[in-house]
Amino acid sequence: MSTYSDFLEIIKKNNPKANLDMVKLAYEYAKEAHKGQKRMSGEPYINHSLDTALTLAKINADMPTIIAGLLHDVPEDTDITLDDIKKNFGSEVATLVNGITKLSKVKYRGIDRYVENLKKMFIAAAQDSRVMIIKFADRLHNLKTLKYLPKHKQKRIIEETFKIYAPIAGLLGVWHLRWQLEDLCFEFLDPENFNKIKEKYEREQQKEREALIKKISENIAKEAKKCDIKFIIEGRFKHIYSVWLKMQNKNKKFNEIYDVFAMRIIVDSIPDCYKMLGAIHTLYHPKKYRFKDFISMPKPNGYRSLHTTVFGHEGKLIEFQIRTQQMHEEALYGVAAHWRYKDAISAKSAWIDDILKIQKNSSNNKDFIKTLEFDIFSDRIFVFTPRGDVIDLPKRASAIDFAYHVHSEIGNKCVGVIINEKIEQVSTTLKSGDLVEVIIDKNRQGPSIDWLKFVKTQSAKEHIKRHAKKQGILSSIMSRIKQ
Ligand code: MN
Repeated sequence: MSTYSDFLEIIKKNNPKANLDMVKLAYEYAKEAHKGQKRMSGEPYINHSLDTALTLAKINADMPTIIAGLLHDVPEDTDITLDDIKKNFGSEVATLVNGITKLSKVKYRGIDRYVENLKKMFIAAAQDSRVMIIKFADRLHNLKTLKYLPKHKQKRIIEETFKIYAPIAGLLGVWHLRWQLEDLCFEFLDPENFNKIKEKYEREQQKEREALIKKISENIAKEAKKCDIKFIIEGRFKHIYSVWLKMQNKNKKFNEIYDVFAMRIIVDSIPDCYKMLGAIHTLYHPKKYRFKDFISMPKPNGYRSLHTTVFGHEGKLIEFQIRTQQMHEEALYGVAAHWRYKDAISAKSAWIDDILKIQKNSSNNKDFIKTLEFDIFSDRIFVFTPRGDVIDLPKRASAIDFAYHVHSEIGNKCVGVIINEKIEQVSTTLKSGDLVEVIIDKNRQGPSIDWLKFVKTQSAKEHIKRHAKKQGILSSIMSRIKQ
């Protein structure tokens, strides 16, 4: 089966009522737009768009997100404009595609500066976290085809992924994507260790895992029948990178990390979660201090489940996670799952709430959270210079504020402004994502006092006032001379 038919199948399976015609149309549209373009791997460009959309379909993202995934590189790399996309696919899809296009405008000039710029743009995009999820899916395919890129680009992409993409995916609770991002980077950086762990996984998977799951399921099924609980059980391994990290941090060997292997049990309701816990503790002796009730006390990012570690067969430790289907989807797909259970608006505010809560509780990644807090809650906007730097300004700032932010002389000599390639009034209020270019006239005498009516930043106000004062003194001297 081709990737394309897989893709359609997955959407149909996750969402039987989905309008597949729209998806097919978007695919053909993107294919036509990227016609003749090739990726560095030599593949047709559309393969990249399709893989991005496939990842989104797998995490059960909503239709506009999947369609935007197919179209995400169209305005950036082809003659088709955002307006064309809006006309054909509606404003919701166009807004998502626009968000991605803005993110790609961040130019790379040194990792520290770039990370700073990218952070700001991610925050600006946070107005709709679906933009970020598309970006993660896009990045995932870029990582899969990393070997075709030149060395310096590979290094940069891996660095960004660890520093920015993976932590944000974690913050948003999209663990499923975070794991894949990290594993792909790890595989690329350290293929030897990656394969060592993977092989062990696969060997265990074949023999022990299946036998173990079978044995445990049979036991649990008997016990569950007594209390009339329906359940699904699956065994799973932690993602490879996190196992490797644990081995490094604790200086342990693979088979010493007992929570490499975990069983996940999915039941119908919250009362069933607790009944199932009872059943497991009846069957197996629990390990002290390893029981955690994240249902009555969810984790800061909203994660809910019951966790317990027990002495299983032959005294081997097994971790169990017990949850409902909804909790399961939320755990894997984070905010992406919220759209299925809540409306999009509450998903948006939920992400800000999450950040607030994490900020209170988390001790790691403190600096990053601090920036997020500052940037989100102090009402900033983020605009681009023509060179691709991101500048943050207070909300409702004007082009003049921008000009003074760049340099006082740029402000003083400003005679006009080009915003998103259109000539605008200098008083125009800027929006996040605007590309701003200041037109200056070297002969201009200084700022206009009228600018004080609309500027928002302290530095712009001070420069204008200072100049006005000078002018005032000057003109009064001039008039005295004349008399
Ligand atoms: Mn892309």
